[in-house]
Amino acid sequence: MDSVIDETRQILREYHLCDYCIGRMFASKLHLVSHKNLGEKIRKIIKQSKPKSCYLCKNLMPELGIFLNKILDMSKEYEFSTFLIGAILQPSILDRDDIIRSKFKLRGTAGIKSDVTREMGKQFGKRTRTRVDYQNPDIVFTIDFKKDQCDIKPKALVLQGRYTKEARGIPQKQESCNRCEGKGCFVCDFHGISGYNSVEGHIAKFLFEKFGAQQAKITWIGSEDESSLVLGNGRPFFVKLVNPHKRKIVLPKKIRLGSISILNLRVISKVPTEQIKFKTDVLLDISTEKHLVPEALKVLESLKDMPVSVNENLPWKNQKRVYAIKIKKIDTKSFTALLTLDGGIPLKRLVSGTNIEPSMSILLENVCRCTTFDFHKIVTSD
Ligand SMILES: [Zn+2]
Ligand SMILES: [Zn+2]
Repeated sequence: MDSVIDETRQILREYHLCDYCIGRMFASKLHLVSHKNLGEKIRKIIKQSKPKSCYLCKNLMPELGIFLNKILDMSKEYEFSTFLIGAILQPSILDRDDIIRSKFKLRGTAGIKSDVTREMGKQFGKRTRTRVDYQNPDIVFTIDFKKDQCDIKPKALVLQGRYTKEARGIPQKQESCNRCEGKGCFVCDFHGISGYNSVEGHIAKFLFEKFGAQQAKITWIGSEDESSLVLGNGRPFFVKLVNPHKRKIVLPKKIRLGSISILNLRVISKVPTEQIKFKTDVLLDISTEKHLVPEALKVLESLKDMPVSVNENLPWKNQKRVYAIKIKKIDTKSFTALLTLDGGIPLKRLVSGTNIEPSMSILLENVCRCTTFDFHKIVTSD
């Protein structure tokens, strides 16, 4: 302690410093945590009064409470249990901090920037009963002391669920807002979408209201037509909620949104990066150009276990299959086919034969067209 007192005398002879800045210079040397208390103590021993303004931080440290109140106020609207505070300081403060530390050879001393974030983190945590998390905080504050601004950024929330669609005429995806192309603007209320009349729109609207989120980015496991139904256990999807205000909502097993239902929606840690393989049971309504002769449809049974190849540079070339097929004749120019097949096979083309092999049209030697297809079951491999 004596050497510290001597060194402090030297420093204070040249510069007026606040308690925080004095304390910071020696805290690590003395293994003390509270810079302010240490500064006060040293000042008492050397009998020096507090300066009006700190040469180093220009009273940033003694006045941190102003910024603390600002972020406390901002954080009120958000639900979080962990946080992180970042700071942008005036370069002149950082320069003076460097100069004093090197001039008096105060090695191992914390810089003022880490002191600002440490001090604010300590007080903010105490006031909100939350804790600092450097790796994966629920919420990040950036305090820009240069511009006198505070910015708040909650971590995106990722959810997983399935949906069913019990009425025709609802598209799966929502068009982006045509003014901002999805970025978010005043017209779309910063949601980035054109409306709420699709599956995506219904799900997004529910999530915006429930979680106070700004945007909902959905990853679909497979796609469907506007006229398709999605029945049974539903289609899986992942959704990333941008800027959520709430994080701990208890969700019911089934959420009814008109003809759309969301099933087993729950928070998960992240959207999986690997591609998800899935199989579907799908019922196709098919009409033919020419009349079907008796027994003609029997030939379609050969589709079972035949590799499907698409005339495109798709990575799964020849690797996808039809596992089961059940044909039912409706009349001489139409039938239904219940297929169990790998997800991702273009269903309408499997019927028509456009750039795909095999196809129902080729096998039947009759031009076939799929009018609607409905999903009855979707099973993922995980
Ligand atoms: Zn200071
Ligand atoms: Zn917009």
